[in-house]
Formats: sequence, structure tokens, C-alpha cells
Amino acid sequence: MFLAYCDECEERFLLPTSHITAVHNLANGVIAVEMTCYEGHRIIVLTGNDTGAWRGGVGNDIPGPATV
Ligand SMILES: [Zn+2]
Repeated sequence: MFLAYCDECEERFLLPTSHITAVHNLANGVIAVEMTCYEGHRIIVLTGNDTGAWRGGVGNDIPGPATV
């Protein structure tokens, strides 16, 4: 399960893995998980062991944190 925030719904959801549409390895320890909320809106969740630097940099509009 992933805890994700949808900007369009303005709500947090606990989403099952069946809502994952893609997973991208951005860097060592940084993973971007593309998901859809229950309304079908696209959400990107950053996860992994080293997301701190990414949250403060470019692309810091990506919601988080995520839990598995
Ligand atoms: Zn939504």
C-alpha cells in the first residue's frame, strides 16, 4: 500500500499496488512510482532510501512520503 496525495482530489489515499502504472529508478536510492487515485488522476510518489535531496530540488512538487 502507498500513502499518496492527489492534488486534483485534494485528498490523501492509501492506494493498493494495483494502482501503480509505472515505476522509474531516478537515481541510486530514489524511485518514482506513478499511480492513479481512485478517480483516475495521475499521482507520482517518490520512494526509496535517498529521497531527501530530491524533495528539496527540481521537481519538488512531487507529493510524498510513501509507505509500502
Ligand atoms: Zn484524484
